[in-house]
Amino acid sequence: MRTSQFPLNTVKETPSDAEIVSHQLMIRAGLVRKLAAGLYNWLPLGVRILQKAQHIVREEMNNAGALEVLMPVVQPSELWQESGRWEQYGPELARLNDRHGREFCLGPTHEEIITELARNEIKSYKQLPINYYQIQTKFRDEIRPRFGIMRSREFIMKDAYSFHMDDESLQETYDRMFQAYHNIFTRLGLNFRPVLADTGSIGGNASHEFHVLADSGEDAIAFSTESQYAANVEKAEALAPTEPRAEATEQLEKAPTPGQRSIEEISSFLNVSSAQCLKTLLVKGDDDAVVALLLCGHHSLNDIKAEKLDGVASPLTMASDAEISQAAGCDAGYIGPINLNVPMIVDRSAAAMANFICGANENDMHYTGVNWGRDLAEPTRIEDIRQVVEGDASPDGQGTLTIARGIEVGHIFQLGTKYSEAMNASVLNENGKNQVMTMGCYGIGITRVIAAAIEQNHDDKGIIWPAALAPFQVALLPMNMHKSERLKAAAEQLYLELKEAGFDVLFDDRKVRPGFMFSDMELIGIPHRIVLGDKGLDNGMVEYRARTDSDNQDIPLDQIIAHLK
Ligand code: ATP
Ligand code: MG
Ligand code: MG
Ligand code: MG
Repeated sequence: MRTSQFPLNTVKETPSDAEIVSHQLMIRAGLVRKLAAGLYNWLPLGVRILQKAQHIVREEMNNAGALEVLMPVVQPSELWQESGRWEQYGPELARLNDRHGREFCLGPTHEEIITELARNEIKSYKQLPINYYQIQTKFRDEIRPRFGIMRSREFIMKDAYSFHMDDESLQETYDRMFQAYHNIFTRLGLNFRPVLADTGSIGGNASHEFHVLADSGEDAIAFSTESQYAANVEKAEALAPTEPRAEATEQLEKAPTPGQRSIEEISSFLNVSSAQCLKTLLVKGDDDAVVALLLCGHHSLNDIKAEKLDGVASPLTMASDAEISQAAGCDAGYIGPINLNVPMIVDRSAAAMANFICGANENDMHYTGVNWGRDLAEPTRIEDIRQVVEGDASPDGQGTLTIARGIEVGHIFQLGTKYSEAMNASVLNENGKNQVMTMGCYGIGITRVIAAAIEQNHDDKGIIWPAALAPFQVALLPMNMHKSERLKAAAEQLYLELKEAGFDVLFDDRKVRPGFMFSDMELIGIPHRIVLGDKGLDNGMVEYRARTDSDNQDIPLDQIIAHLK
């Protein structure tokens, strides 16, 4: 490809809203452009990278015996009614009506659709096990889309769903997917860790998340210093002993007694300043329920102002749960994920009064499982406070825990019969009887993987692509080619030979200063750079530099291709 026909859309300025390096570099390198909150256009250079990632994912999924399908983005509400999720899902689910008034949603995930497909297409145990996958756009109306495509509202996911007669078969496919994910993230050149994840309300048997290790990661993961134990902190906390730690007890002593509280009291309980605890409103709702809306966290101050919550205080004073949910863009009773500094709402009448997460002013300063007392007459219970911190005993009894930050790029899950039972997806078993299938699901955030790769592979000059993701492998840079016919001929010749040798080459045939070419190629992260100049040609030499090197190497022109191989 020639830059005259493949324009680079690099920009000098770091966008002001880009907080993390991958977001900054994706804009500066001209991979994506923001269209609206959480929505991005992918430019030609970005699409090449996306395709490289998709190719690897496809190859490994096919190798693992999965079958590619393609399901619609728009999904009928009836199937979500069947699974029960039409009611449960909350405002992340974008709903719409067609011209006949029928209800649909934009798929945030495809369990309902694949279960419908499987119950129609699979009739007998002889067709099982089967593992379907697709690479498809998802839409989640994230409350705080951020970090560019890392947490966007529209994103591309590889999602797979397997169907089985029994748990052993599910376990086999699960293990095969675990291995496929291992292969995929290894081939993508990422430093990653699989960790145990909580199966939460689905209550399946097993779940793992794959995390790319990066300080900017939104998730905390816990590793044992002495064993293979690794889990996300929620999982580690679920297994942690429940005796109160000294800090927690101290916190509780300061805890406000139930009832209407001032911002000052709540903020002191949450261990945040009242400015950080922006607004705490305890208001009386319907049937005497006390509803508290807590807006916490200094990071979120500007975000909250910029978001839907702006001006929520006055309408809230006597608002119903529904109104509060609407204003805050989440369900009353919604529990904010740790460290996200999202608004949290507790509703006395809801289970949310237990397992409350608080103290969002600083990473690792959170208490989860805080119980405000289901009945406000009851004091907060110490046993409900759990927290895992660096140096705690590992839940497997071996060594202590180290806490690191991770970016969740993949998630595999044994679903069991949650969907197949609700939607009656059954097949005939060996005895000719109907039997509900058991299921697994396996996701990879393809677009997120790209941002995660940049978080791990960059320097002050730009991106350093792992070989497998690089949009081009080789940058061919002739210096002032427009002034030298001989140089032009040599560059064209080398370009041809490199392509014939199977390399993806970006031939910079622009009439620009050498320094300009260098900084563009470094910014977009091409792994190999070949510089051709008149002086070098006199000696039959070219200059070679790998993106990770700090010095040039002089290589004979007739050996450069062999050198690249
Ligand atoms: P997160 O905890 O980051 O919100 P999730 O647990 O909700 O992610 P899953 O439902 O497990 O996500 O979806 C599978 C994968 O899809 C995730 O592991 C992640 O890589 C990707 N993903 C999820 N939400 C987003 C998003 N908003 N933007 C980009 N990728 C996403
Ligand atoms: Mg999510
Ligand atoms: Mg998650
Ligand atoms: Mg997940």
